[in-house]
Amino acid sequence: MPPPIVATIAEVRAAVAEARRAGKKVGLVPTMGALHAGHASLVRTARMKTDFAIVTIFVNPTQFGPNEDYNRYPRTLEADRDLVGAVGADLIFAPLPAEIYPDGHRTFVEVTELGDHLCGASRPGHFRGVATVVLKLFNIVQPDVAFFGQKDAQQAAIIQQMTRDLDVPIRVEIVPTVREPDGLAMSSRNRYLDPTQRRHATVLFRALEKVKSQVAAGERDVAKLEAIISQEVASTPGARLDYARIVDGVTLQPINTLQRPALAALAVFFGTTRLIDNVTLSP
Ligand code: AMP
Repeated sequence: MPPPIVATIAEVRAAVAEARRAGKKVGLVPTMGALHAGHASLVRTARMKTDFAIVTIFVNPTQFGPNEDYNRYPRTLEADRDLVGAVGADLIFAPLPAEIYPDGHRTFVEVTELGDHLCGASRPGHFRGVATVVLKLFNIVQPDVAFFGQKDAQQAAIIQQMTRDLDVPIRVEIVPTVREPDGLAMSSRNRYLDPTQRRHATVLFRALEKVKSQVAAGERDVAKLEAIISQEVASTPGARLDYARIVDGVTLQPINTLQRPALAALAVFFGTTRLIDNVTLSP
């Protein structure tokens, strides 16, 4: 059953109040739409762990840089509704930008340090926009549990930190990355790729798998492991490396040697399309 779509804060709050009156536990899945099986997995998990799953669809202007893809970001509301309806979403909240950022909006959330490296270095202001919109969605919906994907590992870490630091009474759950059969992490941006770029886009997964097997074989030198990723990307036609980093799994700060669980993450451009992926490394 396709779930109802509401566009105002008042409507989503009324629906949550009704669910609460019925004794239901409320789950939140924030998204930007153009939904795929990765998002479906979050919704399925939300529906398993709560009784009322709300999916928000909002292409958040404050997390896009001036030369990024805000205007051309795919908007596919009807297909999104069918996709999340099939996995049990109870309600879609799809506000217009003016509902979330009315004239006179002045307040932003900044999580220090965690946003400086990786994607934060190439997308200044991105995580400030993410943290701000997520805290706003938390306050609008006031769910019991909110679900985010491991695919955006830095975003997940920043939201967990914000939730702790600001005493937000919401549990944050991270759901594993869903991949295409050839390993490419599902992403709304994959639809920008032409067939040749799509074929070569498996380099992200391949590079991370190579690093994992080198770690399994005993390699602990971070510079050497990062070089494996760079080489793999450099030898792929049409691929341009944005970054390849192995960082501490908790603080996301740079490390020289693998001693504790770490995160291997990379971003690669194909033309103007920027793809990211990551894996956890356990030495
Ligand atoms: P987005 O619509 O890209 O902002 O993503 C919304 C949520 O879905 C975020 O928590 C993402 O981490 C998550 N997500 C996106 N792609 C995937 C994927 N391939 N597997 C799991 N979660 C994902």
